[in-house]
Amino acid sequence: MSELTRMTLSALLERLRARDISSVELTRAYLDAIQAHEPSIHAFITLTAERALADAARADQQRAAGDERPLLGIPLAIKDVLSTQGIETTCGSRILSGYVPVFSATAVQRLEDAGMVLLGKTNMDEFAMGSSTENSARGVTRNPWNTERVPGGSSGGSAAAVAAGMASGAIGTDTGGSIRQPAALCGVVGLKPSYGRVSRYGLVAFGSSLDCPGPLTRTVEDAARLLGVMAGHDPLDATSMTTPVPDYVAGLGGDLNGLRVGVPRQYFIDGMQAEVETSVRAAIEQLRALGAEIVEIDMPHTDYSLPVYYIIAPAEASANLARYDGIRFGARVDKGGMWETYKATRGEGFGAEVKRRIMLGTYALSAGYYDAYYGKAQQVRTLIKGDFELAFERVDVIAAPTTPKTAFKFGDNTGDPLQMYLEDVFTLPASLAGVPGLSVPCGFDSAGLPIGMQLIAPAFREDVLLRTGHAYQQATEWHTRSAELKL
Ligand code: GLN
Repeated sequence: MSELTRMTLSALLERLRARDISSVELTRAYLDAIQAHEPSIHAFITLTAERALADAARADQQRAAGDERPLLGIPLAIKDVLSTQGIETTCGSRILSGYVPVFSATAVQRLEDAGMVLLGKTNMDEFAMGSSTENSARGVTRNPWNTERVPGGSSGGSAAAVAAGMASGAIGTDTGGSIRQPAALCGVVGLKPSYGRVSRYGLVAFGSSLDCPGPLTRTVEDAARLLGVMAGHDPLDATSMTTPVPDYVAGLGGDLNGLRVGVPRQYFIDGMQAEVETSVRAAIEQLRALGAEIVEIDMPHTDYSLPVYYIIAPAEASANLARYDGIRFGARVDKGGMWETYKATRGEGFGAEVKRRIMLGTYALSAGYYDAYYGKAQQVRTLIKGDFELAFERVDVIAAPTTPKTAFKFGDNTGDPLQMYLEDVFTLPASLAGVPGLSVPCGFDSAGLPIGMQLIAPAFREDVLLRTGHAYQQATEWHTRSAELKL
């Protein structure tokens, strides 16, 4: 990797501002890294190299003219579930191949308005359903730390691109863990904001009450920068909140004196990898050394998160995915008649996991079952939310593992959907409660695979998460290690 592609986004911004480097040089360095590593990693579905170089040249001119926008000339990658005007957006699905949005998602538009250079669209589990990126119709993404292993999912392409130095940062989406889990498995930082903090407009919907776009980066400071640009009210998304956006970067720094950190008993379970527990407990001790007070807490409804999520998310997905009928978007298998065309398009266009979710969701919502499944799941979701509300009366932030295990091998979980769903046990609760979660690298297992610590804060307290994660990174070096990639 070139020196530039190992640097943090924040350091690159400084060098761009000091005129030490140009955006064109920087963009070339990333495109070279992509050329070198993409054949073995496959983090991207679409590359936008030409456009990136043109954007970079324009950014350099703008800077020369005095433009100081917050991301001017910074090369980023975006998950292929976020609409990009004029650039194919497939969601990792056959059914959307050839679909070119006529508008950009608000989150993407804000990054563009801030001056980003778009390198390309990243690979993902089809419609963001999965935990390994093995459900992509465009082939798997490989983990840069070990190419026999999955990068996690569903934002596996975004996580792998950052870990392999193929982007200075990337945007993912998290419905039940899809930013935090791949960040943990690829040794990068991943932030799922509070529900309603970043607009969902133009994000292709999976679970509308859960979906959150957010950054994957090398450092917490970098995540703070990207969140600051993307966050804020959007009149085009009725669930986006008007809560003011603080200056997240300015809020970083200082020790953790007086911070109360809750460690939930229910997040250290039988069957989790011992090395994950050891590393996360050591990271929590580090927080103590930085001044935090550590408190054991109980989150008694944690166990229900998995069944509740796997009712609510598929139910919402089954409704959201009804629009893919071969008439309006993407690919069509034309059989003459309308019903035949619908059936053939959906039959051939969707992969197995997406079909499974549509069937589960349709069943859970059908007359006679609605109260027993969807209605009950909503009630239990309220109890899970209540666990967080009670916890946050006693503590400022919760610390836990992001995942029960490090990156697994391709095929290990594909035969058993439940086994795959279990990868998300620690990320689902925060998603259901709508609160923000941050995964920071906190160690490696004996096979050299990264481990992530998850920090969770009350809704709209991303500032607390970021300050805690940043203090941890100032005191540790896990995030400075880079995957050694063979050329
Ligand atoms: N892995 C979870 C699922 O398959 C979460 C996915 C996500 O957050 N998009 O639904």
